[in-house]
Amino acid sequence: METHSPENETSPPTSSVTWWFRLRTICQLLAGMRRHDFRAARTWINTMYPGTSRFARYTKFLIWSWHQLWRQIPETLANATFAKPVSRTPYWLADGNPWENHPWKDHPDAALPARAHVVVIGAGFTGGSLAYHWGKHAPGDGNQSMVVLEMGDVSSGSSGRNEGLVVMGRYCHMVAGTVRKHLDAVRADLNAGQRDQLARKFAVAYCRAAYRNGDLVERTIRDEGFDCDYARQGWVQARDADQQQSLAESVGLAKETGMTDWTSITPEEVRERTGMQVTHNAGFSIAAASFHPAKWVFSLFRSALSTDRVQLYSRTRVIRVERVQNSYRVQTSRGFIECDFVVNATEAYTPLLHPQFHDRIRPTQTQAASGTGGPAEIKPHVGISGARAFFARHGEAILVGSDATRVPDPEAGIIQPSRFITAFVLGELRNYYGPSAVQVTHEWSGTVSYTPDEYPIVGLMDGHRQYIIAGMAGSGTAVSFNGGRCIVNRILGKTDEPDDYPVEYFAPSRLLDPQHHRWPDQKSE
Ligand SMILES: Cc1cc2nc3c(=O)[nH]c(=O)nc-3n(C[C@H](O)[C@H](O)[C@H](O)COP(=O)(O)OP(=O)(O)OC[C@H]3O[C@@H](n4cnc5c(N)ncnc54)[C@H](O)[C@@H]3O)c2cc1C
Repeated sequence: METHSPENETSPPTSSVTWWFRLRTICQLLAGMRRHDFRAARTWINTMYPGTSRFARYTKFLIWSWHQLWRQIPETLANATFAKPVSRTPYWLADGNPWENHPWKDHPDAALPARAHVVVIGAGFTGGSLAYHWGKHAPGDGNQSMVVLEMGDVSSGSSGRNEGLVVMGRYCHMVAGTVRKHLDAVRADLNAGQRDQLARKFAVAYCRAAYRNGDLVERTIRDEGFDCDYARQGWVQARDADQQQSLAESVGLAKETGMTDWTSITPEEVRERTGMQVTHNAGFSIAAASFHPAKWVFSLFRSALSTDRVQLYSRTRVIRVERVQNSYRVQTSRGFIECDFVVNATEAYTPLLHPQFHDRIRPTQTQAASGTGGPAEIKPHVGISGARAFFARHGEAILVGSDATRVPDPEAGIIQPSRFITAFVLGELRNYYGPSAVQVTHEWSGTVSYTPDEYPIVGLMDGHRQYIIAGMAGSGTAVSFNGGRCIVNRILGKTDEPDDYPVEYFAPSRLLDPQHHRWPDQKSE
C-alpha cells in the first residue's frame, strides 16, 4: 500500500499542530483510502450507533469523522512516523519461519504420498493442534499417518497475524446474546423463554470448552517446554459509560453460571495492570494469557514432526475434496492424495474450498500494526483492549489493532491494511495513555471468521469422515487446541478423555441444516 501519511519527518509538537499540517494530513488520508476503508466505515456506522435511525447514524458518523480528521488524527500523527516502506510482514513472522517452504526447501525432490489415513488442510493454530495431538496419540504402526497440507507456510494465516492473546474465548453473556439473536431465525418453534434458556446452555457449553482449552494450552507449554513467551496475566477490556450496565449484567451472568473467569475491575486496578487510564470499570478475563502465536504453532509442528506419524507439505494448495466410496480424494496443486479422513482447519478460507459454507462462515478482516516507541506506561504480558482497539507491548515494540469488517470470500487472507485505521488506532492509544512518539514499522491484516450465531463449529461436516473446526469469531486460541484434541480423539476412537464439543451444540448441521440438526434437549441439565 502506498504510504500517504507524513513519513520520517520531524514532527511538530502536539500543541503546535498547524492548520497546514491538519489539512495536509486530511488530504493524505483521503487520497490513501481504498475500498476496505468504506466497508470499515459501514461496519462502524452499524455497530457504534445501535438503535438509532439511519439518518441519525450517518449524522453521528459525519461528526465523528470530522473530529477524527481535523483533530484526533493530525494531533496523533504529529508524534508518529512511518518507516519507508512500512513492511506488510506481520510482527510475529518478521524474524523468519523455521518451517518455511517445508519440505521443499531442504528436499526439492520430495513428493506427496499417494495415501494417508488423515489429511489436514491448513497449518495454523488448528492444523498445529491436530498435528500435535496426532503425533502424541496415533499408534506408531506406520499405518495411521497424518498429512498436513498448507497452501502458504506454517502460521501464515491469521495464526501468524494476531494480537497474541490466549483467550478464554467470548464471555458467557456475549455468547448467549449472539446465539439468542440467531435462535429467533432458526428455532421459531420455541417460545422466547425457551430460546433464552437454550442460548444460555450454548454459552455454558462454549465457556466450559474454552476454559479447558486455556488450561490445556498452559499445561502443554509447561510440560513440553515450548519457547513461546507465555505469561498468564489476564485481559483487561475498557468499557465506556454507556457500556457499564451491560458489563454488570455480563459479570452477573458469569457468577450465576459459574463461568467466573469474567469479572470487572476498577479504573485504579486497570491502571495498575495495564497502565491504561480509564474513568469507568473495565471487563477483566482473569485467566487469559499472552504468547508469541507463531512460535506456539512452530512448536506444535516441531513436536508433531519429530514423530513418524505426521508429515507437513507447505505451499501445497488443496483444490477439491471428493468423497469416493468410503474414502476421500484430495486434489492439490501438487497431485492427489487418497485418505480415510479429512479435517478442514481452514477457518476464514473455508467457503473457497467448500462453497456450501458461503454466508455460514463469514470472512472478516481485522488489522494490526507494530512499531517502536509508544507509551512507557503500557504494561507487557497482559491483554489490553480499549473500547475500540487493542494495544500490547513486547519489549521495545508496541502492537496495536482494530476492525472487524466482513470481506468477500475471495479476499480471505489478503493483506490489505488501511492506513486510516492505523491512524485511528494510534489515536485511541493516545486517548488511553497520553501522547507518545511512535514509529510504525509493520502494518498488516488477517481474516477471521464469524458464523451467523458467532458460535464455532467443531465436528463432522458431511455425516461421514470429513471434519471441520471453524467460525471461531476472532478467538481462535479459545477453541483450536481443545477442538483439535477432540477431533483427533474421535478419529482414533479414544474415549478416555472428555469431549467438549457435543454435536448438539457444535456440529456444522446447526448452520447447514438447522431444521434437521439435533438441538440440545430442552429438559436436560
Ligand atoms: C489482527 C488479529 C488479531 C487477533 N487477535 C487474536 C487474539 O489475540 N487471540 C485469539 O485467540 N485470536 C485472535 N485472532 C484470531 C486468530 O488469529 C484466529 O482465530 C486463528 O488464528 C485461527 O486459526 P486457524 O488455524 O483456524 O486459521 P488460520 O491461522 O487462518 O489458518 C488457516 C490456514 O489454512 C490454510 N489454507 C486455507 N485454505 C487452504 C487450501 N485450500 N489448501 C491449503 N491450505 C489452505 C491457510 O493458508 C492458513 O494458513 C486475531 C486475528 C487477527 C487477524
